Amino acid sequence: EDLINRIAAGEVVERPASAVKELVENSIDAGATRIVVTTAGGGKTLIRIEDDGCGMDQTDLLLSVERHATSKLGADELDDIRTLGFRGEALASIGSVAELSIASRCAEAESGLRLDLRYGARSGPVPVAMNCGTIVEVKNLFARTPARLKFLKTDRAEAAAITDVVKRLAMANPGVHFVLNGSDRTAQSWPAVTGARALEARLSQLVGDDFAQNAVPLALSRHGVVVAGLAGLPTYTRANSLSQFYFVNGRSVRDKVLVGAVRAAYADYTFRDRFPVVALYVAVDPAEVDVNVHPTKAELRFRDAGGVRGAVIRAIGEALTAAGF
Ligand code: ADP
Ligand code: MG
Repeated sequence: EDLINRIAAGEVVERPASAVKELVENSIDAGATRIVVTTAGGGKTLIRIEDDGCGMDQTDLLLSVERHATSKLGADELDDIRTLGFRGEALASIGSVAELSIASRCAEAESGLRLDLRYGARSGPVPVAMNCGTIVEVKNLFARTPARLKFLKTDRAEAAAITDVVKRLAMANPGVHFVLNGSDRTAQSWPAVTGARALEARLSQLVGDDFAQNAVPLALSRHGVVVAGLAGLPTYTRANSLSQFYFVNGRSVRDKVLVGAVRAAYADYTFRDRFPVVALYVAVDPAEVDVNVHPTKAELRFRDAGGVRGAVIRAIGEALTAAGF
């Protein structure tokens, strides 16, 4: 069992940033309004995620580290399992390749409980004093799986990957206050933004102060494809494509169809090795997307790629035309 866990862990948790992604997604699922991410040593030494979400009672806490235990999926939803990622595997997997500790307190409890899973060996739960919510700590990730460690990049590169993951999660969840700190970087804080212009405000926080001023809002709904977000003006470009962000149904993705559609949408405007800044949010019926590729890589396949491409090109084209381009 322990060995199986450790082999499987490599698939769910490729690197510190993938652990951070799973843990922050758990905090979002728990309804957190504030999430503090602290990392050191590129996330190898320490990953700490503190949230003010619903927390867990003792039963849920014990279940949380059981493989395939999830509170989020009914048996009838099993067909959708791929679109949801690794349901019920993240904590068990991380705890098999690191020193994991989960402290949690739900609203009804007078104190918290802490459960440890060190390289697969469980101890606790023991009572701890804490606020309502959950604190997950991951120390010495992959310390006992040298084959995994070997594939990691420098601390600086792993820390940059963590920053990127948290930024994308923050872009997808403007109503959540994110704090990113620890010895891996200068502390950053993105307070929650709400209201009609929440997305613009969040993108200004994360992409650049002047992004919203130099972009047009996207709003198109066509044949079941909803396109939102901000498209940078052709006069507001960057030297690389790192400032193009793609989300499908609230999740950050990498997808050739979307990248191609953006390129096509801007094809009429000449760029000499310049790239438009784009934050594209596409929503489709979940049945219309296939997550049949490695989910941590955030790749997907649209059933109707042509329809999605058409909608994105049209949304950007209309918005730029309306702005006089
Ligand atoms: P999944 O998210 O797929 O259900 P995980 O291994 O990531 O699987 O988490 C297992 C379970 O632990 C979740 O279903 C949830 O009930 C609980 N859990 C994990 N993290 C948190 C958190 N931050 N707050 C509240 N509950 C949590
Ligand atoms: Mg999870």
